[in-house]
Amino acid sequence: MLKIAIGQFMQESHSFTPIDCSWEQFHAGHIYRGEEILTRMASNKVEVAGAIELAREQNLEIAPLLACNAVSSGYVRADVFEDLLGDLLGRLEAQLPVDGLFLALHGAMVAEGDEDASGTVLAAARELVGAGTPIVASLDLHANVTEKMIAASDGLVGYHTCPHVDLYETGAAGMRLLLDVIRGEVKPVTGYCQLPLIAPPENSVTLEGPFREVMEIALAYESHPKVLNVSVFYVQPWLDLSDIGCSVLVVADGDQQLADAVAEKIAEAFWRRRRRFYVDLTPLQEAVRAAVSAPKGPVILADGADAPSGGAPGDSPAILSALLAAGVDVDTLINIVDPAAVDSAIKAGIGKEVSLRVGAWSSDMWEPVKIKGRVLQVSDGAFRFTGPGYRGREFHRGRTVVLQSGTIFLQIMERPVFQGDTALYTSLDLDPREAHIVVVKTPSAFRVDYGPFAAQIILVDAPGATSSNLKSFNWRKLPRPFYPFDEIDDWRR
Ligand SMILES: [Zn+2]
Repeated sequence: MLKIAIGQFMQESHSFTPIDCSWEQFHAGHIYRGEEILTRMASNKVEVAGAIELAREQNLEIAPLLACNAVSSGYVRADVFEDLLGDLLGRLEAQLPVDGLFLALHGAMVAEGDEDASGTVLAAARELVGAGTPIVASLDLHANVTEKMIAASDGLVGYHTCPHVDLYETGAAGMRLLLDVIRGEVKPVTGYCQLPLIAPPENSVTLEGPFREVMEIALAYESHPKVLNVSVFYVQPWLDLSDIGCSVLVVADGDQQLADAVAEKIAEAFWRRRRRFYVDLTPLQEAVRAAVSAPKGPVILADGADAPSGGAPGDSPAILSALLAAGVDVDTLINIVDPAAVDSAIKAGIGKEVSLRVGAWSSDMWEPVKIKGRVLQVSDGAFRFTGPGYRGREFHRGRTVVLQSGTIFLQIMERPVFQGDTALYTSLDLDPREAHIVVVKTPSAFRVDYGPFAAQIILVDAPGATSSNLKSFNWRKLPRPFYPFDEIDDWRR
């Protein structure tokens, strides 16, 4: 019986956020060890679950190692990275010999002093299992793929969707490739092209627009009998690294020339569309006016500039402040991170009127906003995503309160968490379907869960750590020339 080791080590880094990645950011997501992975993750709709399910169908022995996933943030603290990597490797060593290793990685993880932490994880695993044991890893669509990652693995497979709704399927595809390699049915080779390009996340969606076209062109190649897997990576853009860029990765069976040629063709199609990835956002005041006066709700105000999924602190009061200034009189759901305000509200107690200053907790980029209201609800903040894609994934936003101020229902939490799923509100008995305005702090992830019932979606131009105005950041390491900072005709360097 084949024995397959399974692990996960995920975090998406951000070079400009005020939030470091420490233990707290992993605890806001999860750290599962050994058998806990099987009990806590196997029924979720995530990569590890897809891999486990396929292994179970084939009656294989599963060796669960470590599964950890942080909320997006700054670079992983060196000691935290070393501890988690040591834990993963120690568990792998204890399970040796294994026939293969499946790892779920993000691919845009940076640790202090290590630009390519995902590559380091793969290289360390390779060193431990040796050249003869196949390793396959899954990656997020926003991965920053490197030569080191490719060299250390037998194959890398990325999500094909954004919003990401194919985590489970990507995990299963990775496990299928791994098993085919172990059984000698395929000999994977990888074609890889990196583009000198980063682009705003609003247009990384595969539901419509230029990136959908690129993905369709790419996926058509998967019908070629020798093409095993095709991935296109729309890299996390707020990474000031010396080796970065959107990329294309093609895994073919034994035919390097084919893999290279297909990767080039897709890279060319991606590059030709580069100007179309830039988005028009609606100025803040105009967005709020349009939402308040909309004939019908829910109007989704997407604050992509304060998106915890991209690594922002979630504490921007920009939209809240504009709503208050506009005297909003329609039911509005909004949220903000502010541990001190949570503490004050909890000390006052449910049903009590309080006067708080909220937001701008992590930096002095903004002024906090004064708001008066009644404490409606107090929660421990733990919840699970219920929508497609990440279904079952646990988040811990810390102690959380709901404050009602007129028609505004303000969720105040201690820690930032991902916002793409309606469970952020429904877990607190707030129904986005019934509200006139719903504020979500994400550029695109909300489209799948909110899209079907949204009367209107407005992408708001607000300031913040995950602003789409990429030229506004202070880039130091990014290689030049690089688009959109420089005009370049040929993407090949
Ligand atoms: Zn992503």
